Amino acid sequence: MRMRVLVVEDEPDVLRAVAMFLRESGYSVDTADNGEDGLFKAVTWEYDVVLLDVMLPRRDGWSVLEELRRKNKATPVLMLTARDAIKDRVRGLDTGADDYLVKPFELSELIARVRALIRRSAGVAQPLIEIGNVSINTTSRMVSVDGVSIALTAKEYCLLEFLAVHRGELVTRTKIYDHLFDEYDASLSNLVDVYVSNIRRKVGRELITTRRGMGYIIES
Ligand code: CA
Repeated sequence: MRMRVLVVEDEPDVLRAVAMFLRESGYSVDTADNGEDGLFKAVTWEYDVVLLDVMLPRRDGWSVLEELRRKNKATPVLMLTARDAIKDRVRGLDTGADDYLVKPFELSELIARVRALIRRSAGVAQPLIEIGNVSINTTSRMVSVDGVSIALTAKEYCLLEFLAVHRGELVTRTKIYDHLFDEYDASLSNLVDVYVSNIRRKVGRELITTRRGMGYIIES
């Protein structure tokens, strides 16, 4: 699955590679290169997953995680640790980490863990979401209508998947905007309407309902 990810990592090469890979995979990515900045962003904004390095300047990853949980932020956290020590894992479990990745890691492994975490937190047990004649495979990121594959852009897919995961709920434009675009995106929020219109053209008019002045909903 996709959506909005915060990467807190102080090694510039790792940060750049991870952020680029996630963006190419269709995620919106915010970054922080120290613990204080990472904590501020994780508390202030809504992320689907936080990737959190352990050894960080200004505030280490454990302390960031502890503070995040103390503030009742339940955002899934994937710890990136260079130390494959048992005590680190025990500490992480106590502190409320959701998963670990030991450095150095493969980017494909990272993305698999991120997808699993998002799926788990969204309460979607199956990688396949079916709504009427529309089928969304969140693992392969393929969408089909009546069994025929539909070509969606990365952003269109992300928006459709986001609405589908939250089907039955009204999803506000602000929430969509937060999930679809990262902090460096200067795009206007009315682009959301363009994406919705494109999805309707490709997947079908009836799937997404507009609640005027409020947002969008896929009725369950
Ligand atoms: Ca580090």
